[in-house]
Amino acid sequence: MSESLLGDKLLRFFELIQEPVRSKEELVENVRTALDGIAEQKNIGKVTICRSAPESKLRAQIENQTEVLYQSDSSIEETATELSFRTGEGGTAVLSYFPVKGCCWEEEEQHELMLLGNMILWAFRLEIMGELLQRVTTMDLAGEIPNVTGFMGYLGGMLAQGRIENYIGFYFNTHNFKYVNKVLSHQKADEVMWLYIRQLLQGIQEDECVARLGGDNFVALIRKENADAFIYRISDVNVKYKDATLEKNFNFGATIGAAELNGAQNPGEIMVRISSAYQAARQKESKEVVYYSEEIHKEIMRRKEVIADFHRGVVKQEFEVYYQPKVNTQSRYLCGAEALIRWRKPDGGLIPPMEFIPILEKDGSICILDFYVLDKVCAFLHRCIRENKPLYKVSVNFSKRHIENPHLVSEIVAVVDSHKVPHEWIEVELTESEDAKDYIVMSNLIDKLKAEGISVSVDDFGTGYSSLNMLKMIKTDILKIDQSLIPFGRYNNDNQKDCIMFESIVGLAKALGFQVVAEGVETLRQYEYMRDAGCDMIQGYYFDKPLPMDEYLNRLQFGQY
Ligand code: C2E
Ligand code: CA
Ligand code: CA
Repeated sequence: MSESLLGDKLLRFFELIQEPVRSKEELVENVRTALDGIAEQKNIGKVTICRSAPESKLRAQIENQTEVLYQSDSSIEETATELSFRTGEGGTAVLSYFPVKGCCWEEEEQHELMLLGNMILWAFRLEIMGELLQRVTTMDLAGEIPNVTGFMGYLGGMLAQGRIENYIGFYFNTHNFKYVNKVLSHQKADEVMWLYIRQLLQGIQEDECVARLGGDNFVALIRKENADAFIYRISDVNVKYKDATLEKNFNFGATIGAAELNGAQNPGEIMVRISSAYQAARQKESKEVVYYSEEIHKEIMRRKEVIADFHRGVVKQEFEVYYQPKVNTQSRYLCGAEALIRWRKPDGGLIPPMEFIPILEKDGSICILDFYVLDKVCAFLHRCIRENKPLYKVSVNFSKRHIENPHLVSEIVAVVDSHKVPHEWIEVELTESEDAKDYIVMSNLIDKLKAEGISVSVDDFGTGYSSLNMLKMIKTDILKIDQSLIPFGRYNNDNQKDCIMFESIVGLAKALGFQVVAEGVETLRQYEYMRDAGCDMIQGYYFDKPLPMDEYLNRLQFGQY
């Protein structure tokens, strides 16, 4: 019988087993050294660990491997003393001690070896758990590719090796996935996503990386020389989905931002570059890849600032409503006004809407602003009623972003009613949508507003997509013809054609029973032309610019121009 393992040797064994490690290889190395220190004394001939586990969400493939942790030079017995434990996700690990030839352990020695074996297994269990955890935190488990953490880690590795400049970074969003989710069940849509990702991975080199950020957003790191081929591939991906009941082809394009990575210092900086490029591509609704540039970055920062500033500005009531009179073409009498927003910054500067409205439109915050304007307009009308001022209808712009809001009409009515303003004094200006399916929603919206006694005009008529189509479908009261279609203006140089077009539009609109407002009328000549062409109302600098509320109140006293 060998002597008991007390004292320094045991201490050293424990130290080695418990030492923190960064990889399985390091752990195996430490265990080997630890066993080396006690093997001779304990007559240990060989120690192995056998890990087996089925494939699972957390494990890319079936695992079945035996690793030799210790092997002495002497020959060994064939039967081993074994110790096993579960590794989670259906896996097991078995540790086997083989004694040297001709030796067998007594009960007490067996207990001692079990104790040491348990320590070894604990160390492996920790390592395996670490591995699984690493996979959970760095992989997109549904797509079986890295997630954002995994991608950032990958970038970190490339940066550390000084190789990042040889690559192009990508950030892209797949088109059409909403459609897949609409037509297929959740599970089938996931399978299509899985197939799509397999297509993305085709031709990807060992040192390249494609990762999923979530939903249909992806990032990638691709060698410079392969970048064009990658763009070509992700711009047109075909996925054939087939199961027992269904066979369907899907075609996916992408909105793509890309960036050169020269000089990037850390993964975060790379993510900023590629996501800025992507946002620029999205804003431009670009079919081409947009490459990152300093200007793009500045523009995005500016947009972010505007949005952040906007929310502060709303709280601080920095927005003022201006009123631009509309004038009856025949009588030259005031007949209403359009409410137009201005942003008065704390430094006194007045910002015109075109500098912030398009940004708020993209962001969706425009919806807050439109209700802010409606509220101010209703307060103004209430004041006119209270002070017995002449009353005229005021139109308020409502962005197309509101189309997604199913409660829009009741919310508008609630604001108007809260100021006790009769509905007939409010008009809502809507713009045409590029999306024909929105016509149905828009048409419902118009019907509901009209049922509430609120009138509706279609703004910027003639600049939209299928204007004539829309005329058939919607029952609005008023068409506002866009400035760019007004003849004899700064935009127009072929007056004869302009006049033909303009007169046809007015003729058609009148025949269909709409009232027509001409916007952007600046000169006497234009005014006279509009009058003769049959426009009902004029809104333009020829009569008035948008006026601050007090000036507009003064105008109300004399309604004649
Ligand atoms: P819009 O709704 O087409 O408003 C008419 C714009 O034409 C106004 O510009 C007005 O000042 C300008 N305008 C009127 N007459 C003339 C003219 O004779 N000559 C020229 N050159 N321009 C004229 P504004 O106030 O800068 O507003 C620009 C756009 O911003 C508006 O175009 C509208 O699309 C948007 N907007 C303004 N306020 C709001 C708002 O409260 N909500 C929403 N959603 N959009 C708003
Ligand atoms: Ca308008
Ligand atoms: Ca307009």
